[in-house]
Amino acid sequence: MESLMKQNLRQALKSGQKFLACNFYNLETLQAILQAAALKKKAIILQMTQSSIEYMGLLPAVQMARAMKEHFGVQAFLHLDHAQSLDLIQRCLDAGFDSVMIDASEKPFDQNVALSQQVVQKARSYGACVEAELGYVAKLGQSTQKKGFTDPEQARVFVEQTGIDLLAVAIGSAHGFYKEPPNLDIERLQTIHQATSVALVLHGSSGIPAAQLRQAIQNGIQKINLATEIKNRFMQTLKEKLRHSNEIDLRKVFPAARQAVTDLIVHKFEELQI
Ligand SMILES: [Zn+2]
Repeated sequence: MESLMKQNLRQALKSGQKFLACNFYNLETLQAILQAAALKKKAIILQMTQSSIEYMGLLPAVQMARAMKEHFGVQAFLHLDHAQSLDLIQRCLDAGFDSVMIDASEKPFDQNVALSQQVVQKARSYGACVEAELGYVAKLGQSTQKKGFTDPEQARVFVEQTGIDLLAVAIGSAHGFYKEPPNLDIERLQTIHQATSVALVLHGSSGIPAAQLRQAIQNGIQKINLATEIKNRFMQTLKEKLRHSNEIDLRKVFPAARQAVTDLIVHKFEELQI
């Protein structure tokens, strides 16, 4: 399955276009994201992690995303988020993903380089973009205390040696919600941006104040990942809705949760001014 969009994504990134990249988990969150993009007339990146792929099934999820983006008339790119297995990456490339992420950030530098190189080589024949991560962006359940900010000089070497299109950087964000407001290291971001020639990615944007996100965007971040807030908004709305109701028709309760996610993403587009 060849995607005509792939070249478009690379070109868009090269031209400096900024993207909101939203994780979807089911039909309703997918609809919510695309509805928001349609309302704002924006291109968007749809992404899935391995767990979401296992939950929905790879081909059903891909076909649903394709059909739904046609339905909403939106330019949407499909991206694999945080893959740690080359096998999964291969399957997603075969399924026509526009972009894949290899997350070897917890491995030593040389191994991260070697794995990312392998993925770039694989992805090349599919025309797909590759994202890799350098530095330590705490994952859910991991300590946010550990300092592993991306080193600009290492980033330069990493990008040169791997040939990736997108680099996820550690500049003070973390996955999940924040206990204390984060403080992004914008100076470091500027230095990384100057040292590399790739699109930079911010993971863990849920809960980062809009002003900081805008600063990040002005200093090289081109892809802003949003996952936790989407899940959270959907489930909180559903819980609230069901607290005082015995409704068993899911078609009567899901729309409120779906609308809440659309509102969240519309608001993000406006806050980020992208
Ligand atoms: Zn992430």
